[in-house]
Amino acid sequence: MRSLLSIKGLEKTYPNGVKALQGISLDVRQGEFLVIIGLSGSGKSTLLKCINHLIEPSSGEIIFEGKDIAHVTGPEAQHIRQKMAMIFQSFNLVERHSVLSNVLMGALSRTSTLKSILGFFSSDEKIKAMEYLKLVGIDDKAYYRAGQLSGGQKQRVAVARALMQNPKILLADEPVASLDPATCHVVMDYLKKINQELGLTVVCNLHFLSLVRQYATR
Ligand code: ADP
Repeated sequence: MRSLLSIKGLEKTYPNGVKALQGISLDVRQGEFLVIIGLSGSGKSTLLKCINHLIEPSSGEIIFEGKDIAHVTGPEAQHIRQKMAMIFQSFNLVERHSVLSNVLMGALSRTSTLKSILGFFSSDEKIKAMEYLKLVGIDDKAYYRAGQLSGGQKQRVAVARALMQNPKILLADEPVASLDPATCHVVMDYLKKINQELGLTVVCNLHFLSLVRQYATR
């Protein structure tokens, strides 16, 4: 399998002196469901945030599409963030907005600022958003307020929003840590479906070994 992302000697020391990452090297291959396992505080979240440019690594390389992106800034960093969708333990939805609006926000990086402020999305974008909601089995809730949904439903909306970005890679930071065991499996099953049916590469932080064995390809 082709390597989509190649990380070499990555280090991150936070301003308070905590060395969160030291000498991390790994390849992420196109189409795999790669799970990063580790105890709380071991640096999993820091790694995903470095990949996604939410934080800057102290040193090392992150090669993506043939280029070291570890220290790019400005519009280039924005462009990379668009290609790497991220979902979080805490869902990060706008609770007072509808489910559909939340999903459409995934298209914002490809929409002009004025259009997005005014809430204008093309009918193609709305059709696409509904398709993704259907893919995660929640299209019947499109006009509910996001705040009215259960945790598992919110995470499925977050997955649909991530897909709306049309990313090359989906980064999932402990996506089921706030959910009960049955709901965990529902959300993980949708991530697996997206990986297999859309061929989207997934990198997922988890700390439950039982889930790792069931869902990871590596
Ligand atoms: P994990 O995702 O595996 O739980 P984290 O990446 O969140 O691990 O944290 C790794 C280490 O970095 C921990 O010791 C944590 O306390 C520390 N850390 C995380 N974020 C910050 C920050 N913004 N400032 C300082 N230290 C941090």
